[in-house]
Amino acid sequence: MRVEESRELTARLEKAAIYLLKLDRYRKPDDLARRFGLPLPVVRYWWRNVEDQNKKPIADSELSPKQAKAIRKANQVLESWEKVKRYRPACGAKLANGRKCKHSVVIRQPEGWSMGALAERCRMHGGMARRVIRKKDEPEEE
Ligand SMILES: [Zn+2]
Repeated sequence: MRVEESRELTARLEKAAIYLLKLDRYRKPDDLARRFGLPLPVVRYWWRNVEDQNKKPIADSELSPKQAKAIRKANQVLESWEKVKRYRPACGAKLANGRKCKHSVVIRQPEGWSMGALAERCRMHGGMARRVIRKKDEPEEE
């Protein structure tokens, strides 16, 4: 998965997580992280970077239809993370025999999530690298 796509996906997760935390649908970042199988340090980091950490809890009965919908949507986005984890895209690195590597790309360590949750490559092909490594002659699109 390209860095840009991975970053977009990660930004969507972050936005949804912060929305739910702000409305106090989850009391603590850790509660949310556990519920959706996200790395604890990542969700804590997202929440730490929120400027206004005052929560605005709203009772279910007082939710506007728009808010209820936004909450459902945010839950769906975060639930999709389980699926993303399970069905990661293939690495696609060129092998010596001319084929492409079919192993799943790596889920980055928490400290690497600023580059996107999913790496571009599998474990064998540099997916664990801390920095983005891209050869100039490598085609951008697969
Ligand atoms: Zn590979």
